[in-house]
Amino acid sequence: SPLKKVLITGGAGFIGAWLGRALLDQGVEVVALDDLSTGTWPNPTLGEPEGLTFVRGDCADAALVARLVEGCDFVFHLAAVVGVRRVVESPLRTALVNQATTLSVLEAAAGAGVPVLLASSSEVYGPLATAPFREDDAGSFGPPEQGRWTYALTKAAGEQLAFALGRERGLPFVVVRLFNTVGPGQSAAFGMVLPRFVAQARRGEPITVYGDGEQTRVFCHVADVVDALVALARTPSSWGRLYNVGGVESVSILDLARKVRERLGSDSPIRHVPFVQAFGDDFAEARHRQPDIGRIGQAVGWSPRRGLDRIIDDA
Ligand code: NAD
Repeated sequence: SPLKKVLITGGAGFIGAWLGRALLDQGVEVVALDDLSTGTWPNPTLGEPEGLTFVRGDCADAALVARLVEGCDFVFHLAAVVGVRRVVESPLRTALVNQATTLSVLEAAAGAGVPVLLASSSEVYGPLATAPFREDDAGSFGPPEQGRWTYALTKAAGEQLAFALGRERGLPFVVVRLFNTVGPGQSAAFGMVLPRFVAQARRGEPITVYGDGEQTRVFCHVADVVDALVALARTPSSWGRLYNVGGVESVSILDLARKVRERLGSDSPIRHVPFVQAFGDDFAEARHRQPDIGRIGQAVGWSPRRGLDRIIDDA
């Protein structure tokens, strides 16, 4: 379906800025809403794209969001409190902001009948999931004793609310569970592993690997993630469902550290340090985190095109 005008919440953030730039290049009119709580405008990496309308405001402001949604034919909801460190410091704020922003966006979209894409997270799968994660696996939350951290819970609640409003109010929606997304312009400040390794390697400081480093992750280039989001927005037959969006090349964190050092030509030593238990000793991180991306492949023919070497070079 042709996109003419879209609203991007969190439009000054890492993924939002890339998405806005890509849509402008496709001739789409873009309105970006961001309160600049972590984003900066203009985006330091992408600058201020010509023709983009930037609105500084709080996405939890229902009246503001309703006004901005008016006249749009699609909404990308990316605004959220993100990053382990910040979430751990202020779980209450995370819960309030992520809930309030999602509610006001869903409410406005349902009221205007405008389709919305919700950015969820692989964290919804929880620490006990076995890789590769499939969308159908995530239904069971189990007892609260095995529960999720605050951020994951707010993302899961957002998903459930989208499906509920889809049923109750006919809201057209699509949900994406994003896995580790990386690329130029991502801040190293919030504990994301790849930007941190790259920063350490550039400064010649030790690259610090938590534990044995045998835990595995996949990384996806932000440009590929943006392609996935746009493809879903342009394909109404894909709506009403949730999709994993992430990379395909699984890599251990130790190998990632080695690769970063090698590609950057850095002399940094690799140092193993104990995993910093952010949430207490009984909170586990998923040892292997990898998406099954068969569903989105079938729905819109998407798979990532940029491999790990390119991802590291661009990080
Ligand atoms: P980001 O922090 O760079 O972007 C989020 C933006 O939202 C920031 O610019 C921030 O200022 C803005 N924001 C926060 N609260 C707001 C509010 N109340 N009103 C208006 N704007 C507000 O993060 P990102 O990496 O671009 O993530 C985008 C989305 O994707 C988030 O919803 C995140 O949870 C999700 N996600 C990202 C990843 C990843 O690897 N980057 C992985 C899983 C999920």
